[in-house]
This record gives sequence, structure tokens and C-alpha cells, in this order.
Amino acid sequence: MALIDVGGTLWPNSWPIRKTDAFGRRVRIQAAMPGIEPATVEALADALIESSRPGDEARSISTESAVSTGAEVLVAQCLVRCGLPADADTVRRIRRAMSIPVSDQMKLLPGAAELLTEIHTLGMRTVIASNTYWRDADSYWDDFRVLGVAEQIDAIVTSVDAGHLKPHPAVFEMARRWAGVTAELCVVIGNREENDIEPALALGMRTILVYPDDPKPATSRAHAVVPDLWACAKALRDMLDDE
Ligand SMILES: [Mg+2]
Repeated sequence: MALIDVGGTLWPNSWPIRKTDAFGRRVRIQAAMPGIEPATVEALADALIESSRPGDEARSISTESAVSTGAEVLVAQCLVRCGLPADADTVRRIRRAMSIPVSDQMKLLPGAAELLTEIHTLGMRTVIASNTYWRDADSYWDDFRVLGVAEQIDAIVTSVDAGHLKPHPAVFEMARRWAGVTAELCVVIGNREENDIEPALALGMRTILVYPDDPKPATSRAHAVVPDLWACAKALRDMLDDE
């Protein structure tokens, strides 16, 4: 099984902020809160967009989520401040509404679709293993459908679903349990030594460090280090041939 990171691995490190993003969020927040007074929904949208600005700006520099306050905590605080119920279901709906869907501005990195196809050709399963803030697996499924690669993906595990950000092992462990395989049968592909490679090695998984959108790393403990996703597909083939 291949466990694949997203930011800096399948798509770029930075997420372009667009003026229309706030408008899109307002529309989705309204849709997620049927039967609530429009003025209250408007106040909720103001509170959410305002309090999420520091995190959004951080993610415009790096899609590697490093913001510590959980999205669901932030959403719950905004709901309470607006006098709305902050039950788990409402929090989840609003978190998803805040997740900005991929647009025509967000493209997969070169070779990403070919890598995903190659993994299936090799008879492996593909599981997305990603640190996210607003996104959960369902949000990502929508994204990958838009990007035309959903068919090449078997499962998605995000830090929102697993409850911990990588390098915590929860994301990889959840993916491994989903597949029902031992760690030796897992290959982690990612662009961050500390978030992808180190926790994978600690679990006994094999690793490929890729840098299609990063400078060449000075050092790495990964089993293979490759500059692009075509070279990654080849490294994966070679790894399986060596068995
Ligand atoms: Mg990454």
C-alpha cells in the first residue's frame, strides 16, 4: 500500500488566496445552516472568516498545516459567540463549509496522475495521508473528483479524521488499519522529513522523500529521495523489484 501526502507532494505547497474565497464560504455557510435567521448566519460567517484569517494566511505560505488550534474548536467558539448550537453535527457541517474547494487555479504537480496510475499498475492500493485544517476525507474526495484522479485513490485519511497532525503516527496507523496490512507492506511518499519520513520509519514503513515543489533536501533518512513524481514512480517500481 502507498500512503501519499498531498501538500508539496501531489499538489503545490502554497494555496492561492482569492477574493472570491470569502464569498464562496458565505454561500456554503448559509447552505449549512437552514432555518436560521439570515442576520445570525451573516454574523457567524463574519466571525468565522475573521477568526480564521491568521490560519488562512499561514496556509497561503505553506499547505503543511502547522496551525495548532483545531478547526472544530474555532468553529464551536464562533457558533457559541453567535448564540447558535455547537453540537458535533453542526460543527462538522460548518468546518466543511469553510474548506475552500480546489479551483482551476489549483493543479496537481507534474507527474501526479501518472504516479497514482502506476501505483495501481503495480498492484498496490493508494491511500491519501494528509495533514489538513478544514478538510476531512469527504472534502478531499470532492477535490480529487474535480482534479480527475478520484478513481486512482482507494482511501483518504486526514489529520482531521485521525484527530492528530503528522508527525503523530495516528494518520498512518489509521490508513494501515483500513488496509489491514502490516507496516512492512506500506510505502510512505511525502515531501517533509519530519512529518512524513520520520514517523513512517518509526512505524517500520518504507519511505520515499519527494521534492517536486521544495528545494533539494540536504539530508534524508528516506529509502529513496527523488526530485519529481515520475522519478518517484520509478523508485517505487525498483523498491518492489528488489523484494
Ligand atoms: Mg506535504
